[in-house]
This record gives sequence, C-alpha cells and structure tokens, in this order.
Amino acid sequence: MTGIKVRTPLVEMDGDEMTRVIWAMIKEKLILPFLDIDLKYYDLGLRRRDETNDAVTMDAADAVKAYGVGVKCATITPDAGRVEEYGLKKAWPSPNGTIRSALDGTVFRKPIMVGNISPSVRSWKKPIIIGRHAYGDIYAGVEMNIDRPGKVELVYTTPEGQESRLLVHEFKNPGVVMAIHNLEKSIRSFAMSCITYAIDERVTLWFSMKDTISKKYHGYFKEIFGREVAAAKADLDKAGISYRYLLIDDAAAQIMKQEGGILWAVSNYDGDVFSDVIAAGFGSLGMMTSVLVSPDGLYEFEAAHGTVRRHYYEHLKGNPTSTNPVASIFAWTGALKKRGELDGSDEVRAFGEKVEKAVIGCIEAGIVTKDLVPLMDPKPAGFVTTEGFISAAAARLV
Ligand code: NAP
Ligand code: MG
Repeated sequence: MTGIKVRTPLVEMDGDEMTRVIWAMIKEKLILPFLDIDLKYYDLGLRRRDETNDAVTMDAADAVKAYGVGVKCATITPDAGRVEEYGLKKAWPSPNGTIRSALDGTVFRKPIMVGNISPSVRSWKKPIIIGRHAYGDIYAGVEMNIDRPGKVELVYTTPEGQESRLLVHEFKNPGVVMAIHNLEKSIRSFAMSCITYAIDERVTLWFSMKDTISKKYHGYFKEIFGREVAAAKADLDKAGISYRYLLIDDAAAQIMKQEGGILWAVSNYDGDVFSDVIAAGFGSLGMMTSVLVSPDGLYEFEAAHGTVRRHYYEHLKGNPTSTNPVASIFAWTGALKKRGELDGSDEVRAFGEKVEKAVIGCIEAGIVTKDLVPLMDPKPAGFVTTEGFISAAAARLV
C-alpha cells in the first residue's frame, strides 16, 4: 500500500443499513486510496452480533481500549420488530450502550458548521456541544403507583442491618412515586471526560444542575464536578479554558445569547432534552457528529444519527438515495485527526483536515444532499446522490 503512513492501528466498527453502504463508499473513495493504515475491523452489523452472541461488540470495545481510537458506523439497536426482521436469537442491547459502559465514557455531540447554512438561533456562530451524563437518574429509576392511602419511605440498610429512614410522603389519596440514584465514580468520570474534551477542543466549559432545589442530589453533582475542575485547574488554565457553573434554567436562557464554542455539561435528562434542542437549532442530523471520550482518554468517533432506515429500503429497491454522508465522513476524519495527534503525526492530522475542507468546500459550492437544500441560503440548483457527494469530495482530494 502507498499513501500516508498511520503509525498505530485504528479500530474500525462497521454497522447497519444505509450507513453501512455509505461506510464502504467512504473507505473506498476517501480513506484507503490515501492512507497506509492498519484497520482493526469489527463487524458490528446486526447479523454478526447475533452470530457471535454480541461478543463482537465487547471485542471491539476491548480493541478501542488497546489502541486508543476507534471509528464506528451507526448500528441498529434491535426491538421486537427487528428480532423478527432479522430472525435474531434475542433483542441484543445497544452497541453504543455496551461500548459506553465498557469505556466508562461520555458522549459529546458536535454540529458541523458551513458558511451557507445558518443556525436558527442567530447568535450561534460556533458549535455548542452537549456533554450528557449517561448514568442513572430517571433512566435507572424505580417507580410505584400508589392507589390507596399509606406511607412511602426511603430506607437505607447498611451491611450490618442498621436502617435510616426518610418519609417521602404520607399518601391520603392516590399518587405516584419514583426513586433515583447516582454514583460518585460515574459523576467523576463524567467530569473528567468533559474536562478532557474541553481541553482537546479548546472550548469554554459550562456545567448546569438545579442545586438550589435539590441541595443533596444535584448539590452532589455540583460538588464533584467542581472538585475535578479544581484538580485540573493548571491544565485548564494552560489551555485558556474557563469554567462556569450555572443553574440549568439560567444556562438554558444564556445559551440562546451565546456565540457558541461552549461545551455544556448536563445531567442525563437535561442532556436528553437539550441535545435534541441544540441539534434541531443547528440544522440537520446529517451534520451532527458524536464522540465518546473516556476519562482516561480513549476515543470513539461516529455520526450522531442512526442507520437511516427509510433510505436503506429505497436503496434495496435499487433507487438512488440522497443520504447525507457528512457526519459519517467526519467520524473518520475525527478519528484520524486524533490518531495523528496521539501518534505525533502532523501528516495524518493534516489529511483529516484536508478531507473536512473538501467536504465543506462541496457544500459551500452548492454540492449537497437533499436534506440540506431547505436549510441553505442561497438555495442550490439541485441535489446530488449519496455517491455523487462522496465522489465530489474525493475529487477535491487529488
Ligand atoms: P435515523 O437513522 O436517525 O434517521 C431518521 C430520519 O432522519 C431519516 O429517516 C431521515 O429523514 C433523517 N436522517 C438521519 N440521518 C440522515 C442523513 N445522514 N441524511 C439524510 N437524512 C437523515 O433514525 P431511524 O431511521 O429511525 O433509525 C434507524 C436505526 O438507527 C434504528 O434501528 C436505531 O436503533 C438506529 N440508531 C442508531 C444510532 C447509532 O448507532 N448511533 C443512533 C440512533 C439510531 P427522512 O426519512 O425524512 O429523509
Ligand atoms: Mg432524546
């Protein structure tokens, strides 16, 4: 093989449906002709996960631990319908969930910005990245319907059998209760991943909770996050990164007036809501990348969208699709830039940037997939197919 030498292997995780089709095109046209690279390939396509009883997903996560950087195609998280469609042994868990747990990482979603697409919030000029804590809270809550009068208590029992009790509510009428929890280690890992990301990307760091109301639960998050920031103060200062703690409602209002260039770290539920608000504000899902960062600096890059199922069924009928490959391409370039940085290879890093420039150049020249047309100003003359877009980007690389 010829091309730029990538010193350390890169972990590649293949996926499903339309994004799998796009994946192969990206490799063929934008990656393999230019790089001398050792790809450690793991097929996380649903069939292979089923064949291996999902062992392939754990193997891929182990490979990311071994090599440090991975790039992942979107995958199907099977539901009952998919179990039938693919004749699966069972509804395997989400590969993203498995890999995230294995790496103890945090997912950061970042919009790709281009000159001729303006965010719907006028002040946003630079990316706003949401860092969502992804453990516990209502996602691991326990709930109970209360139909008759009675007392609900929180009971904590030590291993020695000592109990402490707290009255939740004395019910006189029907109602409902929920108990949630979180873990010091998980919050600390989250804070460390956010700090690593903010330093990598040279962005301001915000963290938001509601500790004025929830003095213990939210207060615990605020305290741990603040402690990790204090411990990393020298590194943050050196990178010129400022940190602010804001109440979540204050932050939600402030973010509308900011230019961007902010990593906004939030709790699990707030992240669920605000990542979709921010994504919608920046435009298309096809222009949103995602990176999983572990507290000890392991990286997995991917597109934020799914496998674009509807387009895949069109593709299967033999119809050309106009699916946006940009986020998948940026998953590759993000991984290559990080690989280059960790290997101390400017050439590899520069190649990643060159591909990104080629892609943005296409969009700014009006060569776009269908999803971008309504967002653009000025409006392009038309749109290209998935393959047409990738070929146009490739043509700018030679
Ligand atoms: P999706 O892949 O996110 O797509 C939903 C819709 O958004 C598409 O039908 C399309 O709208 C639009 N869209 C998303 N990405 C696009 C792109 N690159 N270019 C153009 N349009 C794009 O969600 P889905 O089709 O509902 O889900 C399919 C599978 O993805 C599910 O099995 C789910 O488990 C999986 N999923 C995986 C991940 C992951 O691996 N990270 C994340 C989310 C979902 P139009 O149809 O209107 O054109
Ligand atoms: Mg959501």
